[in-house]
Amino acid sequence: MIELMKAAVFHGVGDVRIEDVPKPKAGPGEVVLRVQRCSVCGTDKRIFIHGQKNVVPPAITGHEIVGTVYEIGSGVNSGLRTGQNAVVGTVVGCGKCIYCKRKQYNLCDSFTAIGYDYAGGFANYLKVPAAAVAQGNIIPIPNSMSVERAALIEPLSCCLNGVEYLNPQPGDRAVIIGAGPVGLMHAAILKARGCSEIFVANRSQARLEYVKEFGVGTPVNTSGGDAAKKILEAGGGEKFDIVVTCCSVKSPQEDALKLVRKKGRISFFAGVPKDDPIIPLDTNLIHYSEISVFGCFASNLQHYHQAQAMVSRDDLPWE
Ligand SMILES: [Zn+2]
Ligand SMILES: [Zn+2]
Repeated sequence: MIELMKAAVFHGVGDVRIEDVPKPKAGPGEVVLRVQRCSVCGTDKRIFIHGQKNVVPPAITGHEIVGTVYEIGSGVNSGLRTGQNAVVGTVVGCGKCIYCKRKQYNLCDSFTAIGYDYAGGFANYLKVPAAAVAQGNIIPIPNSMSVERAALIEPLSCCLNGVEYLNPQPGDRAVIIGAGPVGLMHAAILKARGCSEIFVANRSQARLEYVKEFGVGTPVNTSGGDAAKKILEAGGGEKFDIVVTCCSVKSPQEDALKLVRKKGRISFFAGVPKDDPIIPLDTNLIHYSEISVFGCFASNLQHYHQAQAMVSRDDLPWE
């Protein structure tokens, strides 16, 4: 008899159903986790609304996963044991390209991903494919760690990837445009790294209330008007060493270039719509003011380990 489990199955745009589906079994090299928590990413929402080329219905999405090792397939010699809690690295590299050789799996030319190409965490059980197990994507966490907090390790790892480029220094002034979960995480990381002033801008007052609640920065409401001007005013007219864009529209990217001071660093953390990614860019500003503009996409395993350490240290004001 086939054992069944509950899963949220994506059948197409706007169509997700809770269904009984076969419970996965661990084949050679594979590991099955009992899912404890799987948080909802902005990307999951985007898949629900627009679909995604790597998510072929019927599919189970969800990649911000924490689970308990439930079944270990033959030939897995990663030191995992059943009953151990773990988070799961999303990206699975091809293992052959130059980026995989450098362990930069997120930049692999033909990477696959859990919650996209493979079934994700919106289910009772998750099968981690053999390539992901071999790559080290099952990252044990202490069973004493709250699973709610652990479910945020994946998005936090992405923020840490971005912050790595920004090289924050004690005393830096930072502004984050976008007060969603990853905006707040950026603010918390920059605070922990010693930035002296952190501003978090958003058009929605409801979002800004979280900035106050978590005490990670000074909220700036940019609704109705010139956002860059409002942010500069809030910062006493002084520009910023670090600017991070955490919302998927172009205008904050343009604003970032107006807000950054000489030798400042900008992270375009959020992507923008793929059919409309071009912004005007004064390259002389970059040249004369020695500005650096960085991108970042997803994360790598070292960022998961850093994120886990941050959660363990209680460095973030989660609740
Ligand atoms: Zn995510
Ligand atoms: Zn590769």
